[in-house]
Amino acid sequence: MTIGILGGGQLGYMLALAGYPLGLHFRFLDPSPEAPVGRIAQRVTAEYTDHDALEKFANGLELVTYEFENVPVEAARFLAKHVRVYPPPEALEAAQDRLSEKNLFKKLGIATTSFAEVGSAAEIDKAVRKIGLPAVLKTRRMGYDGKGQWILRTAEAVEFVKREFPATPLLLENLVAFERELSILAVRSKAGETAFYPLVENHHRGGILRLSIAPAPNLSAKLQQAAELAARRVMEELNYVGVLAIEFFECNGELVANEMAPRVHNSGHWSIEGAATSQFENHLRAVMGLPLGSTATPGVSAMLNLIGEVPEAAEVLAIPDAHLHLYGKSLRPGRKVGHVTLRAANLGELKSRLEQLPGFFARPEYCLPSRPVASAG
Ligand code: AMP
Repeated sequence: MTIGILGGGQLGYMLALAGYPLGLHFRFLDPSPEAPVGRIAQRVTAEYTDHDALEKFANGLELVTYEFENVPVEAARFLAKHVRVYPPPEALEAAQDRLSEKNLFKKLGIATTSFAEVGSAAEIDKAVRKIGLPAVLKTRRMGYDGKGQWILRTAEAVEFVKREFPATPLLLENLVAFERELSILAVRSKAGETAFYPLVENHHRGGILRLSIAPAPNLSAKLQQAAELAARRVMEELNYVGVLAIEFFECNGELVANEMAPRVHNSGHWSIEGAATSQFENHLRAVMGLPLGSTATPGVSAMLNLIGEVPEAAEVLAIPDAHLHLYGKSLRPGRKVGHVTLRAANLGELKSRLEQLPGFFARPEYCLPSRPVASAG
């Protein structure tokens, strides 16, 4: 049985690795001839807009899913005429535009940032009056890893963006003074079965995720329930099938939704070793209509992204219960090229394992915080 995956990056790579034990085969479509999945699966190199290529790609597939959320919705809809596509293209559409995403949260009663549409430089002042400063101006589409975002703290910064206005629709949000960032990974199967991973605490630098701690330290049942309820509402509304990620800010003990991703997510990589069933396997189970696997976490995990460069494997693997994942991508600054997961029985042990990481991880961008682990260590 062959599953088609749109996008051939590391998320697809890890989906395939999780699917091989289930007897699945994979065919990927990606415009880049360098897409890392080429090492381990069939890869079709074509543009998402190439209908002939899409048709050939779909031939003989059991179903199509995606690992890249900026796949044109039109491509997903075109494929859906030939083969089943999960999650539904409507979910892709809702998540691709920050405005429709925020409107969906609002409609479903999920607390989110305040926001205003900014279609042109002339609309900025009105949006700033509505939202106030400090605020974040974001491109509505194609933003990821903090790209396409400008923090506006002063009237001068507002004047600057008016002069340098990018030729694309924007959204202005209030800058949230959050206590921490959390995300939930949820999954819903074709049969309507749902499962939820515990909230994860995420640390970003330069808009890029650097460190996740799972489960989030000092996680209250109230926060977990609120996150599950939000994810359940989104999944039911979109008739969702697959893994869904929602990122939140924690403010005064409440969750404020930032954004969602209709796919497996970087803040769920720890689940490969840290949960009974990984997000990748559960995504495949969901789209195949198989029973979902347990999301239980026997212990705690820390996941560190490797950005642009990789440490000495031997130094990482000398730490007990350390796991190294290299995606086979060429090394370039700012590019996610791998990750390390450390597992431990409790937060105290996790803290000591984080302290054993080689000097490579001592740089500030690795965000090795004293707070999340020390607070409960
Ligand atoms: P995003 O692309 O929306 O996930 O933003 C990337 C990162 O920028 C987030 O994980 C936050 O660290 C930060 N960020 C984005 N939006 C806001 C906001 N409204 N208030 C505060 N920080 C934000």
